[in-house]
Amino acid sequence: MIHVENLTKHYDQVAAVDQIHFDIHKGEIVGLLGPNGAGKTTTLRMLTGFLRPTSGTIRVKDFTVENQSLEIKKIIGYLPESAPLYPDMLVFDYLRYVANIRAIPADRNLSRIRELARQCGLQEVMHKPIGELSKGYKQRVGLAHAMMSDPEILILDEPTSGLDPNQIIEIRDIIKHIGKEKTVILSTHILSEVEATCDRVVIIHQGKIAADGNLRELKESSGNTNVIHLTVRNAPFEEIEKQISSVEGVTGIARLEESSDQVSVKLTISSGQDPREEIFRKVKQTDWVLLEFYQQTQTLETIFRGLTKEN
Ligand code: ATP
Repeated sequence: MIHVENLTKHYDQVAAVDQIHFDIHKGEIVGLLGPNGAGKTTTLRMLTGFLRPTSGTIRVKDFTVENQSLEIKKIIGYLPESAPLYPDMLVFDYLRYVANIRAIPADRNLSRIRELARQCGLQEVMHKPIGELSKGYKQRVGLAHAMMSDPEILILDEPTSGLDPNQIIEIRDIIKHIGKEKTVILSTHILSEVEATCDRVVIIHQGKIAADGNLRELKESSGNTNVIHLTVRNAPFEEIEKQISSVEGVTGIARLEESSDQVSVKLTISSGQDPREEIFRKVKQTDWVLLEFYQQTQTLETIFRGLTKEN
């Protein structure tokens, strides 16, 4: 559906987006994740044809951004980070105005507005001025605007930014619902949003793609060693170190917390090894009291931090 190759955008000397590649397939909900200034907005603005790339190729269906950006704008609905809305207009009047600019035929105009009001949960506020709406409702109006011409692809730049937890869940549910029929690309900093909404994650950092895949693939490819946490009573750290560091697969042992009667340690485990049984046997042979014993699995947060923390 979308093919991006060697896409680059320079602002003077700054490479905001630096030779990125990705493909987005029909029906996917893809989360574009990255820290502030990573290049997410710049990428989305180039995909929508609002910003000219310095170099590289963007193909949307059979159209290229260089030559057919008007055709592409017809296929894509875009919700920018701060959707420009007219605060004095009533929601209904605003959507009718958008329907007119989008050349929705007069006989379908009302039914389309009604349909969008239902999809975006706007029925209760159709006759309120936009300026009086909460941020969550304003975002829904922006979403309805982006969806007016029933585009095949929706591009949403930080759709839940600045919303409260309830509003976030509501917008997220709307996006998930829309995603059943459309291809959706959304940018966000919120990791739980990606986990809850997206089929696939593209992590962008300093203008480059740092990772691309579904969560399972990212966990597998992040290559980080596993970690086991162990808390015991009745054993000094040195004793734990002596017993546990000889277990095959344990490559490191670090003291996390130590009080007068208990110690917490973090064990680093080499990739592909699972020494939990052997550790358990070792502990059983002692008079230690086992208080905690668990394997820390990779989360999107640990993957994200590993890939995007500054050097
Ligand atoms: P955020 O999450 O903070 O919105 P982002 O990932 O969307 O960040 P971009 O807005 O794409 O990042 O910015 C990428 C880089 O390009 C940043 O270093 C930014 O300062 C720079 N940049 C963005 N727009 C411009 C501009 N119009 N002129 C100059 N530099 C810009």
